[in-house]
Amino acid sequence: MTQAIPTSTSTSTAATFTALKCKECGAEYEPKAMHVCEFCFGPLEVTYDYSALARTVTRRSIEAGPKSIWRYRSFLPVASETPIDVGTGMTPLLKANRLARRLGLKQLFIKNDAVNMPTLSFKDRVVSVALTRARELGFTTVSCASTGNLANSTAAIAAHAGLDCCVFIPSDLEAGKILGTLIYGPTVMAVQGNYDQVNRLCSEVANTHGWGFVNINLRPYYSEGSKTLGYEVIEQLGWQLPDHIVAPLASGSLFTKIYKGFQEFTQVGLVEGKSVRFSGAQADGCSPIAQAFKEGRDFINPVKPSTIAKSIAIGNPADGVYAVDIARKTNGNIESVTDQEIIDGIKLLAETEGIFTETAGGTTIAVLKKLVEAGKIDPDETTVAYITGNGLKTQEAVQGYIGEPLTIEPKLDSFERALERSRTLDRLEWQQVLV
Ligand SMILES: *Cc1c(COP(=O)(O)O)cnc(C)c1O
Ligand SMILES: [Zn+2]
Repeated sequence: MTQAIPTSTSTSTAATFTALKCKECGAEYEPKAMHVCEFCFGPLEVTYDYSALARTVTRRSIEAGPKSIWRYRSFLPVASETPIDVGTGMTPLLKANRLARRLGLKQLFIKNDAVNMPTLSFKDRVVSVALTRARELGFTTVSCASTGNLANSTAAIAAHAGLDCCVFIPSDLEAGKILGTLIYGPTVMAVQGNYDQVNRLCSEVANTHGWGFVNINLRPYYSEGSKTLGYEVIEQLGWQLPDHIVAPLASGSLFTKIYKGFQEFTQVGLVEGKSVRFSGAQADGCSPIAQAFKEGRDFINPVKPSTIAKSIAIGNPADGVYAVDIARKTNGNIESVTDQEIIDGIKLLAETEGIFTETAGGTTIAVLKKLVEAGKIDPDETTVAYITGNGLKTQEAVQGYIGEPLTIEPKLDSFERALERSRTLDRLEWQQVLV
């Protein structure tokens, strides 16, 4: 699968992005497959012609677009008129009244990417963008370093697009994440190490094999896909910004890109500007960003992850400092929670709203609860919690915490006895709660 490193750049007139720009020193580069600045090693970010966007894009033109992330195509770094559209995006924004009442909030919304297409996590957004750009840049083999969901997305969308695919995962991932990758027929490398070791290996492979790694040499394009989680919330709130958002942090990219999405729609006049508070969620067992926030540091001390929240277990987060900066300047917070609180968060969301999320979503709900209890979210704030993945993929996390079915004979009296027993058990549980 070795191939020459592609050099072609697309020159379609449909493109509204202009360059890659270093976030640290401002150096600009042609929009090719690269992700770090040659002068200062800072991360590169895509720039756009915002005055052109302000002139040409309206609420109505967006609403007339496809029912997917591609309704925001002019804000995404692709030139193609026919991007890879597998129905990604436009997931429900649910008014979560029962959970809100439970937590003591008045206006709570759940952005539900547990049902994002095609692989039931927000990663389908970033991969749809990255693989569209990979195809434009001439790559025929695509790859990624993944904590699980990214492998699912890359394998599935590569299959749809007819691209060769080789993904790298830590070997101790949940069964659902591994099976949910293998089914699409990619080459899967299960690396005996943690995500940060997988990532380091992939940087070397990217340099030698000339593959398009969605979160390495294509990272500037990949990360832009997360902006759609900002755009959609604005549109679904009736073209308004919320007051407060809570989102999980792994590398910190998603968090910073929701922020960029809000900024962009304000800048081009699609939404009236106001300050939005940004709060981030991590697991205690991997909380380098939360630690930096709490200690008032502007650098990250890498950690060795140990948590059930594997999808967000990145010990050396690439965008950690930018996430800390955003939480600070928006008067938000970054909190972490224990594995038990994560399990309770998964159950709470399921029991109040009928949404089964994975460990990352459990982390978000647990942090939401913690922030409300600490008075760090005002009950009157319109708050959006981002649920980024599906619970059926991390069944191991809740096994043993959710009870068992009542096994009965196919006879009415067997059913009646079991029902009586379950009611007695319920009463006992309630009595325990009351004492
Ligand atoms: C990858 C992932 C995240 C966070 O990703 P970032 O690296 O911070 O952009 C959050 N939730 C889930 C379920 C994920 O798979
Ligand atoms: Zn630079």
